[in-house]
Amino acid sequence: MAKKLFLIIGAPGSGKTTDASLIAKKHADKIAHYSTGDMLRAEVSSGSELGQTIESFISRGALVPLDIIIDTIISAIKGSDKDVVLIDGYPRSVEQMTALDEIIVNEEDIDLVSVIEVRVSEQVAKERILGRAAEAKDGEERSDDSVEVFYDRMKVYTDPLAEIQAFYTDRALLEVINGERTLEVIVDEMDAFIQSKI
Ligand code: AMP
Repeated sequence: MAKKLFLIIGAPGSGKTTDASLIAKKHADKIAHYSTGDMLRAEVSSGSELGQTIESFISRGALVPLDIIIDTIISAIKGSDKDVVLIDGYPRSVEQMTALDEIIVNEEDIDLVSVIEVRVSEQVAKERILGRAAEAKDGEERSDDSVEVFYDRMKVYTDPLAEIQAFYTDRALLEVINGERTLEVIVDEMDAFIQSKI
């Protein structure tokens, strides 16, 4: 049976990783969740040469190169033993969107069900990111949770957004969720949407 893939996009601080991980936890028997940022940070922590290359992009708030991110997400999807896979943090560029589209056309075992956009204003995103930076424990700080890098990350997110929204709207795949409400309300709505599609 083809794996049902949901992509979750959102600005830094939109809460997309928290939302998706709570949903996967609730349905651990059938839903797997992978965050591109978490997978990349895990590679950085491993201390590998690839990890060092990745960190040089993350610390600037820049996107890692296409081949690295494609390998990361395709290995996660294929390696998962669950029928439903949530990937948050992809696509983040028009190039990534097109690359995945070409892969999916040729892959019978991956079915892209929906692209969920968790929408928050820049103000809310910034407050959450700076709040996260202030609360981080020693040794758990992220190299990119600072005001300076926040604006670069926000721009990287916003620049291709209209084209990404248009592409998935044309294919009737885009679902927008208001990410400015409480975590519980957002998760319930996203979970209900996912359940309605699987
Ligand atoms: P996040 O945890 O989603 O905020 O991602 C943290 C950082 O990881 C981003 O600022 C990028 O440097 C990198 N990253 C995450 N997802 C992607 C992606 N789809 N493409 C390229 N780089 C990514």
